[in-house]
Amino acid sequence: MAEPAKKLWRIEISEKLCKGCGICVDFCPTNALKMSGTIAAISDLDACTGCQLCDLRCPDFAIQVFPR
Ligand code: SF4
Ligand code: SF4
Repeated sequence: MAEPAKKLWRIEISEKLCKGCGICVDFCPTNALKMSGTIAAISDLDACTGCQLCDLRCPDFAIQVFPR
């Protein structure tokens, strides 16, 4: 039986800092992020490649990606 996919990245989104601009969602090349109402949210953590584009492009320092 196959092991479940191991998540290699941890994504932290600050509800306090996120302004809901959607830039991180637009830049994410693998659709690992989505908008949830007015804030960014994780859509598929297994899809995250750790490229950190979201982290680099967020104008409000509201999203951070860390290796596990
Ligand atoms: S880029 Fe930053 S402020 Fe904009 S939706 Fe993403 S986390 Fe929120
Ligand atoms: S690190 Fe890259 S793949 Fe992961 S959520 Fe951010 S933009 Fe998407």
